Amino acid sequence: MSHLKIGWAGLGNMGTPMVTNLVKAGFKVKVYNRTAAKAKALQEKLGVDVARSPKHLVEDVDMVITMLTDDAALKEVYEGPEGILSVTLPPNMLAIDMSTVSPDTTRQLAALCEAEGIWYMDAPVSGSVKPAEEGQLVIMAGGRPEDFERARPIFNVLGKASYLLGDNGAGNYAKLAINTFLGITLQGLSEAVIFAKNNGVSPEQLLPLINDGPLASVVTRSKSQNIINHDFTPSFPLGLLAKDIRLAKAQGMDTPAVNTLSTTLQDALAKGLGASDMMAIYQFLEQEYTI
Ligand code: NAP
Repeated sequence: MSHLKIGWAGLGNMGTPMVTNLVKAGFKVKVYNRTAAKAKALQEKLGVDVARSPKHLVEDVDMVITMLTDDAALKEVYEGPEGILSVTLPPNMLAIDMSTVSPDTTRQLAALCEAEGIWYMDAPVSGSVKPAEEGQLVIMAGGRPEDFERARPIFNVLGKASYLLGDNGAGNYAKLAINTFLGITLQGLSEAVIFAKNNGVSPEQLLPLINDGPLASVVTRSKSQNIINHDFTPSFPLGLLAKDIRLAKAQGMDTPAVNTLSTTLQDALAKGLGASDMMAIYQFLEQEYTI
């Protein structure tokens, strides 16, 4: 049982299993979610306290953790009329953001927090809903070493590994780098499968070859059945991947593969695939291109 009191904002696909693991590990957690019904449901299931706004979330906590959609959501939770920064904060409180957002937003919020006498750390995660449920995320942080040590007991519950990479924003840069690699991998996998299929080698035949060969990865293995079954039920929605590629490009990642991926994602969004799983890149390319 830990004596650390945590305020947690964001009970989406990732936030809900992450909070669940912290509660099971003995942390005292208070939650806030914009859609109150999700917080109420977790209260009934786990007995967590519920705050009705971000400013109430930070009353009497040691740390506040955010797991929100994007930069706009994070800014709303910090700077909105009922936001975290609208009240006097517990001295020395640590604010950790685990969402995938821009390093620019991180540095802006870190400066605002410091002016209020509290500390900020970006700590986005690699791994999707299943690793979140299993406490197997990989956490990449930017901030002060002493804050990383304070957060370590929490990171140890949420993830299988955590790394401090540098100052505020370093975690965001690492996360954007990883997600560009992820997106390029999905597009490469899709194009290879479509090319083989159109030339008489089915996905059922090709994917085991990939998964038994040197290019196999957690991604190729976990997405093979989605391709074969045309099942694009979201685990990590395409719209969130498109957001991450936009953020990487805004940080200057203006390279051939990323630009191609970006066009694919924007076109797939225009076809209404934003809420489908990121593997729907395959569905889009299959419909649009005869390779
Ligand atoms: P999600 O299921 O869409 O949940 C997003 C959360 O943000 C919800 O709690 C939502 O509240 C809240 N939110 C959105 N806009 C808000 C606003 N303006 N004010 C207050 N709250 C707001 O997203 P997720 O899949 O949990 O992902 C969270 C973050 O982790 C994202 O940055 C994503 O890129 C990153 N990530 C996701 C995965 C994955 O596999 N899903 C993996 C690694 C990293 P409501 O309930 O009211 O909508």
